[in-house]
Amino acid sequence: MYIEQSTCIQCNACIPYCPVNAIVHNKEEGIVEIIFDECVECGACKYSGVCPTDSFVQQEMEFPRSLRSQFSNPLISHPDTGVPGRGTEEMKTNDVTGRFKKGMAGVAIEMGRPGTGTRLYDVEKVAMALAPVGVHFEPHNPVTFLMTDKSTGKMREDVLNEKSLSAIVEFDVPQSKLPEVFAALKEVTPKIDTVYSLDLACRLEDGFNPVVKVAEESGFKVSINGKTNVGLGKPLAKED
Ligand code: SF4
Ligand code: SF4
Repeated sequence: MYIEQSTCIQCNACIPYCPVNAIVHNKEEGIVEIIFDECVECGACKYSGVCPTDSFVQQEMEFPRSLRSQFSNPLISHPDTGVPGRGTEEMKTNDVTGRFKKGMAGVAIEMGRPGTGTRLYDVEKVAMALAPVGVHFEPHNPVTFLMTDKSTGKMREDVLNEKSLSAIVEFDVPQSKLPEVFAALKEVTPKIDTVYSLDLACRLEDGFNPVVKVAEESGFKVSINGKTNVGLGKPLAKED
């Protein structure tokens, strides 16, 4: 995205609309401009309609720059998954897909948030820290598509400096390995320059969630904002 300087009247109205603070008033040069390397191509400035002179221009994007909008613009479906956003639908619809079987846990590490975003080199750091535990990266997740080696979590070199509003490292793992997953995550956390939230998905056992206690024992605070599927769907996979 860029601002057409011949029509911009420097009213500053657009500045609060950018979720990563990429729009700045450059007082020395007397212009309002977009810091190109910080922009995640989310489109919020342009499609909010805030600009009175319609000065935002969406440039053509080639790979790997195009990844920014695929990960950040909710109006764009990711070409590798066919769904808008950064994760896969299955994580939230286990009662239909049956993807996570008994004894298994689905894990998503949602990296970046409005105000920070995330660089893909930080996403790679997290993926590479978790791979040695023996996690199985979700093949339909857009981050997994960028891995050159799914056994190590290594990603393509040419995408690492790209920035997005958020990106999700998504995998499943036996519940017995969750303490190792949490330990690896804690070790890599100080080495990344963004925030993340941790999602856990599993089947209830005898009416109880078997992974909450494990997360709490590993020092993660479990939010009450959970999502419970009540099993009204028709799992495609067998029970176990
Ligand atoms: S496209 Fe998004 S990230 Fe880029 S300047 Fe506009 S609001 Fe900010
Ligand atoms: S809202 Fe439009 S005219 Fe106002 S500073 Fe932003 S780009 Fe310029």
